Amino acid sequence: MPIKHLFAVVIVALGLSGCAAMPKREAAQPPLLILVSIDGFRADYLERGETPNLRTLADGGATGGMRPSFPSLTFPNHFTLVTGQRPDRNGIVNNTMRDDRKPGVTFKMSNLDAVRDAFWWDDAKPVWTSAEEQGVKAATMFWPGSEAAHKGVRPSYWLPYQEDMPHAERVSRVLGWLDLPEAERPGFITMYFSDVDHAGHDHGPESPEVDAAIAKVDAAIGELRAGLKARGLDGKVNIIVVSDHGMAKHKPEKFVRLADLVSADSTDILGGQVAGFNPRPGHEAEVTRILLTPRPNMQCWPKEKIPARFHYGKHRRVPKIICLADVGGYLVAPSNDGWMPKPEGGSHGYDPAVPEMRAIFIANGPDIRPGVTLPVFDNVDVYSLETRLLRLKPERGDGSLASLKPALK
Ligand SMILES: [Zn+2]
Repeated sequence: MPIKHLFAVVIVALGLSGCAAMPKREAAQPPLLILVSIDGFRADYLERGETPNLRTLADGGATGGMRPSFPSLTFPNHFTLVTGQRPDRNGIVNNTMRDDRKPGVTFKMSNLDAVRDAFWWDDAKPVWTSAEEQGVKAATMFWPGSEAAHKGVRPSYWLPYQEDMPHAERVSRVLGWLDLPEAERPGFITMYFSDVDHAGHDHGPESPEVDAAIAKVDAAIGELRAGLKARGLDGKVNIIVVSDHGMAKHKPEKFVRLADLVSADSTDILGGQVAGFNPRPGHEAEVTRILLTPRPNMQCWPKEKIPARFHYGKHRRVPKIICLADVGGYLVAPSNDGWMPKPEGGSHGYDPAVPEMRAIFIANGPDIRPGVTLPVFDNVDVYSLETRLLRLKPERGDGSLASLKPALK
């Protein structure tokens, strides 16, 4: 036995003796599940002729358009996709959040300390944690939320997010995990690609740059498929490909400068496609009156009166007043200080019911029925499929398996 393997066996033996609490799975392990997110991949991008590999997965499996949860933003929906809970319950209520229990801190993608702080993610248990607890090793090649431990439990393998890691390296690292000795090999892997989202924001969804980004990510999926085949895993792995939301072309005439409406002295303001307001003491009536006066390009509600279909407004992190931009619009906070979104670009975050926000869904593998086209469904249901394919006892989600049952063999 090579020394490397001997070493591995010793570590595994030590590991087993050290985690008596981890239940040993009696039955045979389920097929490997790989969950891939292509950020900002709108459902209809699949029809552009740029995605031979995704097309093959879709034709040989199940596919359909998927409604994101409100707000149709990256962090909330990625956490929904791995918890089955809508953002209002999983606690990631926006890409940018504040919480009275963490005064002075703003959670946002660029605040790495916050992104890695379990405080923000603790409301819901991600599927990789359930997998680890129930005897399936998990590995995350990036996923929002995977950098924070959940009640002390992390995936067996995870990395801090590294946006500039080339796709080829992401794929080769995933394949490297599959080359580990059986006892160390993950049974659940996530992957994440951001290029399509970036191209959509910068150049708009109909741009050649989006076409190029789609083709680039599809090529990475092709490398992954080739690597699985080389390992004799062709047709033996369940693969789910999702995106978190779609993308809509900007309509600059719908951009709103919030500074023209309210002063930052009278209310805390988080801008975006969905803007949040917490009026400062003494200014509640004034700010509420201004924002609830109907005006073009946006709609506002007190958090208690947000339309029921958004399933939003109960979490303490949801600001007291929420305004939603019309599709293509943007609510620019005074703190942005002169910055405006690119007129030629695109955004998401809008009403999840509009077709532009619709996300891709593809499932393929030994447990998936080929040639199935699903009616549009809510992304809270994907968690039920993940836990079914991994044969895990699920947490209580907001969705169910009903919409995806036709996809199962
Ligand atoms: Zn996104």
